[in-house]
Amino acid sequence: MTLLDGKQIAAEIRAELRTQIEAIVATGRRAPKLAIVIVGHNPASETYVANKLKACAEVGICAEKIAFEDSITEAQLLEEVAKLNADNDIDGYIVQLPLPSHINEQTILSAIDYRKDVDGLTPENVGRTVQGLPSIVSATPRGISELLSRYHIATEGKHVVVIGRSNIVGKPMAILLMQRPYLTLPRLSAAAVGNATVTICHSKTSNLKQICLTADIIIVAAGSPALVTADMVREGATVIDVGITRVEDANSPKGYRLAGDVDFDAVAPKCAFITPVPGGVGPMTIVSLLQNTLQAYNKQ
Ligand code: NAP
Repeated sequence: MTLLDGKQIAAEIRAELRTQIEAIVATGRRAPKLAIVIVGHNPASETYVANKLKACAEVGICAEKIAFEDSITEAQLLEEVAKLNADNDIDGYIVQLPLPSHINEQTILSAIDYRKDVDGLTPENVGRTVQGLPSIVSATPRGISELLSRYHIATEGKHVVVIGRSNIVGKPMAILLMQRPYLTLPRLSAAAVGNATVTICHSKTSNLKQICLTADIIIVAAGSPALVTADMVREGATVIDVGITRVEDANSPKGYRLAGDVDFDAVAPKCAFITPVPGGVGPMTIVSLLQNTLQAYNKQ
C-alpha cells in the first residue's frame, strides 16, 4: 500500500509556483493578487482562510482577506462582489463557503466574474469544464487530478466510483474523469486523468457496496465518517478520501479530530494507493487555489 502524500506533493507544487512567480516579478511585473471574502466566524472557515493566506505568502501571491460580519445582507455582498469584479489589481478571488443562511450562495457565485473565479464554481466555469473548453477547474477536483497524475495513477479505461454529487467536488470530479484528457487541464499527464468510466453515487444509491466493489478507484466526498468500509473495497483499489468532519475527541487538545469518509485502518491494507485524512486531499485543494490564481493572472 502506498500513501498518497498530499502534504508532500503540495509542498513540491508550492516550490514550483514560487519559482514561477519569482521569475514573473523579476521581469518587473507585479505579483498575482488573490482576495478572500469571508462572512461571519465559522471556525472551520476561519482555519481554511488562514491556511490559504499562509500558502499564498509562501509562493509570493499577494493575498487580501476581506471579512464581513454575519449581518451583511445579500445585496451588500453582491455590491462587494461587483467591486472585486471591477478591481484591476485583483486577479482572482473566492467567497469562502458556507455563507449564512440568509444569503443565497448560488446568487453570489453566479455574480463572480468567471475570469476571476479561482474556486471554479461559477456556472460559466462549470459549463466550460463540461464542454471541454479552457476553464478554471474547481480546486478540490483539480487537486485530486494533480495527485493522481503525480503518482502516475492512470484513470484511462478504469472504473471510477465517485461518492457525492456536490457542485464543488462530486460533479466536477466526475466530469474531469470521464473527459478526453488535455481538454481542461492541459498540464496534467494524459495517462493520469480522464478517459475513465465513471459511476456517481449519492445518498439515494441503493447498492453502494456492490458498486464500490467493482471500482478500480473510489473517490468519496460525502462528509460521512467511515462510510467506506473494508468490505466495500476490492484488493488493489485506489481510495481517495475527500471527507473532512470534525468529530469530538476528548483526547485531543482542540477537543476534536478530523475524520475522513473512509475507515482508514481497515481499508488501507487492501489498497494499492490511499489518501490519509488529514494530509491527503486537503493540502492539494489549497495548492490548486494557488495554481488557479496564477492561471487567472496569466490570462489577464
Ligand atoms: P455535500 O455538498 O454535503 O455533498 C455530500 C454528497 O455526499 C451528497 O451528494 C450526498 O448525497 C452524498 N452522501 C452523503 N451521505 C452519503 C451516504 N451515506 N451514502 C452515499 N452518499 C452520501 O458535501 P461536499 O461539499 O461535497 O463535501 C463532502 C465532504 O468533503 C465534506 O466532509 C467536506 O468537508 C469535505 N471537503 C473536503 C475538501 C478538501 O479539501 N479535503 C474540499 C471540499 C469538501 P445527496 O446528494 O443525495 O444528499
